[in-house]
Amino acid sequence: MKIQEKSVVAIEYTLTSDEGEVIDSSEGGEPLTYIHGVGGLIPGLERELEGKGMGAMLKVRVAPEDAYGVRDDNQIARVPKTQMPKGAPLEVGMQFQAAGPEGVQVVTVVKVEDDAVWLDGNHPLAGMHLNFAVTVVSVRAATEEELEHGHVHGPGGHHH
Ligand code: ZN
Repeated sequence: MKIQEKSVVAIEYTLTSDEGEVIDSSEGGEPLTYIHGVGGLIPGLERELEGKGMGAMLKVRVAPEDAYGVRDDNQIARVPKTQMPKGAPLEVGMQFQAAGPEGVQVVTVVKVEDDAVWLDGNHPLAGMHLNFAVTVVSVRAATEEELEHGHVHGPGGHHH
């Protein structure tokens, strides 16, 4: 069957930056499994997978607008070290989870000063073009229960 809304799709993928750096890959692990059409994948990739069948291989370059968004300078803030967790090693490039107005978000330390750190709340992949090499491993229809739960059951998904 072809990938359409409410398909359960398993893909193997490698994600690289424009500079050729591998950002993420399913190699050596389980394929990524998702329900098509419910927002489980970034829109730019999901659109290209639509209509593809098992065994299909594709290369997709996704613009930031169709991936993790453009960078927003308002997401960068200077935080006094006194407000940071005690004993946390603060180095540029460090990432941790912080509670924000829209739930938990990943923030990255972008600058360290004597008494403060600069934190960037942009998604680490915001502003980047993403290059996917994808192979479709399997396609099947989602069960009623999976659609109700909004996630995949069985291999690559939830077991409960
Ligand atoms: Zn479930």
